[in-house]
Amino acid sequence: MSELYLRIALPTPLRRLFDYLAPSCVSSTQLQAGIRVQVPFGKRNIIGILVETCQHTDVPKEKLKTAIAILDNQPLLPEPIFKLCQWTANYYQHGLGDTFNWALPALLRQGEAPAHKAQYFWHAAKEADLEDPRLKRAPRQRQALQVLAQHPNGLADELLSAVSINRESLKLLEEKGLAYQQQRTPKNTTASKNILAKAPLSFNPEQQTAFDAIASNLHRFNCYLLAGVTGSGKTEVYLQLIQRCLEQGKQALVLIPEINLGPQTVNRFTQRFNARIALLHSHVNDRQRLDAWINAREGNADIVIGTRSALFTPMPKLGLIIIDEEHDASYKQQEGLRYHARDVAIVRARQANIPIVLGSATPALESLQNAEQGRYALLKLNQRAGGATVPSFIRMDTQSLPLTAGIAAPTQKEIERTLALGQQVLVFINRRGFAPVLMCNECGWTSRCPRCDAFTTYHQRSNELRCHHCGEQQAHPRQCPQCQSVDLRPIGAGTERTEERLQVIFKKTPVLRIDRDSTQRKGSLDEMLGIINSGKACILVGTQMLAKGHHFPKVTLVIILDVDGGLYSADFRASERMAQQIIQVAGRAGRAGDRGRVIIQSQLADHPLLVQLTESGYFAFAQQALSERRSMALPPFSFLALLRADGFKSEQVNLFLDDALTLAEQIHQQNNSSVELLGPVPAPMERKAGRYRAQLLLQSNDRKQLHQLLNQLIFNLEKLPSGRSIRWSIDVDPIDLF
Ligand code: ADP
Ligand code: ZN
Ligand code: ZN
Repeated sequence: MSELYLRIALPTPLRRLFDYLAPSCVSSTQLQAGIRVQVPFGKRNIIGILVETCQHTDVPKEKLKTAIAILDNQPLLPEPIFKLCQWTANYYQHGLGDTFNWALPALLRQGEAPAHKAQYFWHAAKEADLEDPRLKRAPRQRQALQVLAQHPNGLADELLSAVSINRESLKLLEEKGLAYQQQRTPKNTTASKNILAKAPLSFNPEQQTAFDAIASNLHRFNCYLLAGVTGSGKTEVYLQLIQRCLEQGKQALVLIPEINLGPQTVNRFTQRFNARIALLHSHVNDRQRLDAWINAREGNADIVIGTRSALFTPMPKLGLIIIDEEHDASYKQQEGLRYHARDVAIVRARQANIPIVLGSATPALESLQNAEQGRYALLKLNQRAGGATVPSFIRMDTQSLPLTAGIAAPTQKEIERTLALGQQVLVFINRRGFAPVLMCNECGWTSRCPRCDAFTTYHQRSNELRCHHCGEQQAHPRQCPQCQSVDLRPIGAGTERTEERLQVIFKKTPVLRIDRDSTQRKGSLDEMLGIINSGKACILVGTQMLAKGHHFPKVTLVIILDVDGGLYSADFRASERMAQQIIQVAGRAGRAGDRGRVIIQSQLADHPLLVQLTESGYFAFAQQALSERRSMALPPFSFLALLRADGFKSEQVNLFLDDALTLAEQIHQQNNSSVELLGPVPAPMERKAGRYRAQLLLQSNDRKQLHQLLNQLIFNLEKLPSGRSIRWSIDVDPIDLF
């Protein structure tokens, strides 16, 4: 009898599979692709995924080791996900084992059985009444009860924070006999007959047209680009498409950007449907993640909502994929497996032969070009749904205007006027901290990170200098390290400084700063949102956190400070990102009734792209930006891959990249390919966290040829001795050239 070998994908950086002998007492029927196998690897035991069994191996007999244990009786990864991972590994030039690792919940990677723990569900008591006198003085409990009442099948304990209910309120309701908890395993939850918990809105004509186009084709693959201005009711279209999908007994997958997963988004789903919703994002713990994953795999979750990696969730009855804010950069993973969740989701939809909807008010230029070429079906929503009008733009030239904490005098006047009307103001600065740099007024010394080519930001609250690139923190120096002068001055403005200044000017008005620092404490964002939602006049100061997913009905004035970087950056995507940011932030304004106004302070107020954007809108801007990309043969009119390397010694990094260039040139000549090799050059930020960084860019107008070259190149790079002392990675379709 011939031996049976197991070909296993292991979570190592190496882009190859590893052969092992099967353990002795194992039946060959158990050895299906997709099961987990524990094997000895070096000095450790690690867990990999079986890819295939075979009768031949190139590994010499004396080196061949025997697998320790088979962990699954049936494939952990169903075939479609297995194949999707293979495609992803292949396309992004990444090891299959490590790709599986990114796709699987942590507990499964660690060997946990894919089995449920019981879940707790909260229910409203039958006789509970919202008008119960005991709730008069307890608005939180009343609100919690109201939400429970909308969920006759119970609300899973893990969803509570997502819908802004705290467990405390429920416990109090329980004491009053108005709510109760029930334990059950998700297995015995059944899909509700009545899917809707709340009636859908009736569509306006634009929504109806978009909905019909997609709903009439639910049975097959198509990629739709739903380009709707902010507030045009894209979410309502998603909801009703999902409803259709659930009515047909299918599951829906909704991907959302990383920090968009605020209560508001999830609320809309949980309130609309009596459905079993699984959440997969960075705030759920490992156990919850595993439970959600299992529910989805067993068809016991109707809707999966999650960030990037939720894309790999097994869903046997998947009928629809939605990518909300498809232009968002957080869909592209920037470490390890550098995949783009939107692009891989399209592949998944194609494999499953189901529709996928990409929604955005500011579609990526790539997506618009795909629509232009007929690969995506473009559906537009040009009007705001609630009847609100799109905001008007004012470009304020600040070249000759003095700024205090970033704000020009005419801007301040506008803030005054708005507050006097009892309305709210949003000030957007994409920079945390007090000031982006500290400078000595005597000798010109500036605060720099010792480990990066970057300034350190002054944070006043903590009286520290912090590097936003590597996290390095230093105490604020008492004196200039160079000349001992004590005259150290913060230069420029970040959110802290603008907040402080506005608070001084508008003493009676609450000024709320919303950024990563001010929202670190759990619940603090909710508190601030509470004040904002109360509707009283206030000023919000914040970073892009404010620009995503929130509705601020009372904000009628938006002020955008400091986007000029987007107009002269070396990164060819900077202007696209700037435009998206402006439109998204502007979209927070005037959502209810009153028309919103947007002031953009700029030193380059007459820049053609800025003029185009503010006067003719995002699509006109996109047209112009696309024609510039075309003339310069930049993506989407060409394809890029970036080979990055970094190390402690620049010579080692350069040696590796020179070797890589030589290899690439050889392959290039053999293939007679059209791929251009640009570099190697130092990275735009040459030193980061103490490491020297450089890169080689590969560009081609033929994706196939680029991939062919990469395939051969990577295979050889892994063998290069010069690659051992440094770190390197390949980024296919990079969106950040830094
Ligand atoms: P988007 O997702 O495009 O930003 P939303 O779906 O959030 O837009 O809709 C914006 C607002 O308009 C929401 O308050 C929503 O309830 C409301 N809305 C959406 N569709 C309709 C409709 N057909 N009729 C009335 N209001 C609507
Ligand atoms: Zn000095
Ligand atoms: Zn640093």
